[in-house]
Amino acid sequence: ASSFGIEEALKELGVNETNNGTSTGKNWFSSGEEIASYSPVDGKLIGKVSATTKEDYEKVITTATEGFKEWRQLPAPQRGEIVRKFNDELRRLKEPLGKLVSYEMGKSYQEGLGEVQEMIDICDFAVGLSRQLHGLTMHSERPGHRMYEQYHPLGVVGIISAFNFPVAVWSWNTALAWVCGDACIWKGSEKTPLTSVACQNIAARVFSENGAPEGISCLITGDYTVGEMMTKDERVPLISATGSTRMGKIVAKKVAGRLGKTLLELGGNNAIIVTPDADIKNTVIGAVFGAVGTCGQRCTSTRRLIVHEDVYDKVKDAIVDAYQQIKIGNPLDENNHVGPLIDKDAVKNYQNALDKVVEEGGNILVEGGVLEGEGYESGCYVKPAIAEAKNEFEIVQHETFAPVLYLLKYSGDLENAIEIQNGVRQGLSSAIMTNNLREAERFLSVAGSDCGIANVNIGTSGAEIGGAFGGEKETGGGRESGSDAWKIYMRRQTNTINYTTELPLAQGIKFDL
Ligand code: NAD
Repeated sequence: ASSFGIEEALKELGVNETNNGTSTGKNWFSSGEEIASYSPVDGKLIGKVSATTKEDYEKVITTATEGFKEWRQLPAPQRGEIVRKFNDELRRLKEPLGKLVSYEMGKSYQEGLGEVQEMIDICDFAVGLSRQLHGLTMHSERPGHRMYEQYHPLGVVGIISAFNFPVAVWSWNTALAWVCGDACIWKGSEKTPLTSVACQNIAARVFSENGAPEGISCLITGDYTVGEMMTKDERVPLISATGSTRMGKIVAKKVAGRLGKTLLELGGNNAIIVTPDADIKNTVIGAVFGAVGTCGQRCTSTRRLIVHEDVYDKVKDAIVDAYQQIKIGNPLDENNHVGPLIDKDAVKNYQNALDKVVEEGGNILVEGGVLEGEGYESGCYVKPAIAEAKNEFEIVQHETFAPVLYLLKYSGDLENAIEIQNGVRQGLSSAIMTNNLREAERFLSVAGSDCGIANVNIGTSGAEIGGAFGGEKETGGGRESGSDAWKIYMRRQTNTINYTTELPLAQGIKFDL
């Protein structure tokens, strides 16, 4: 690993062999048992992090709650200025952080850099937003009255994130929450604890150098039990949770039980519809990148390709052919397209899915399998696979977080393809490949895709910061990142002001005293 500059990157990011956050200045307290982080790239131990105990958590939440009281008083553009300085640090540390993301999570170095770029982009967005955060004004029905609404900071925001975007998802939430005047407590994935430590080191340094109160960026470390400390805590008005639908259902119930707010970003089961009018070359590029990029571990990964029977054989041959060109190996080596899965459990899930699709009557077009031998010692490298299947197969209905692509055939009208596309419990990302304007518009219409993201002539995976990101149905309904997603991090207040000498009551009610 050292040949790829990992040791230098860790050093630059202040990540050590053993990391604990017991010093106050780091806004991170952890004194519990150690979590070891092994790289899926080469199976080696990268470092350890101690977990947050209940007592540690109390210190964190107290610091965050106190810090919030001061932070909310700072004018939003001044909060934006601190986020801008944080962004300067991200730009400076883009390469080491991108490298650590790649090494700890297993995505390609290019994708690791891309993830840090997303952090940079959302910070830019947030800085501009810090001069907006606007409410509306309305006309009052009463003479001499003014009515308007304003958005105030919400409080302490709890962020729970998944392993597959170990740094970007945190920043999508924090950059907005910070300019909105909130304090954030982050529980990253226990599978990628060192990237969390690296981010917290940057944030804590920038906040303290710029005179921000303690506790605006806090980190807690550990598994779901540490996450639960926040989900059941009334001092945390909003929980933003990214991960599996299974996790989302548990978190949603816990937080709803105390009438807290949730922002849920859960699993997807994304499809591309390929109509007879599709550009086949672009379809293949979009589908292959969507299915095998990040080793199929994006929430927006392409899982289903719904192809019209007239072009089915042509698309099938082209995709199978493209899969022969895929290079699998160390993601830090830029010659490879696909890195490892996150761990051996993920490998098992991948193998189960391939067994299951055959059991249900599917036909394997591109064989899967676990790679062995030199360079594959971690046991996490698998071959991207393709199976012909039916949408109603149980395994097709399920999100398998691995590079398994299901080829589904449709005949007749586009309506049949849309029915298949919408015929799953998840509703995150969707796409249509067509040069036919009528088809494209029908796909985007009220009777079209039911997903939070619907694209024309680009694939399902990846999204830009400027739009709101999220999905419907079992994907959880939350929206984060661009557009007006910031509103969830604030509380809305409607204000009516009477500037007359009278006190007229609403609806013309008379109340003579
Ligand atoms: P996961 O659900 O196993 O874990 C996600 C996070 O939730 C972790 O930090 C985990 O510790 C925490 N957690 C789990 N149970 C919890 C509980 N009961 N209370 C509190 N916290 C709990 O998911 P994963 O394997 O890390 O990530 C993969 C999943 O995430 C996929 O389903 C993927 O689609 C989804 N995902 C969705 C989006 C999106 O924006 N929609 C983005 C990235 C990943």
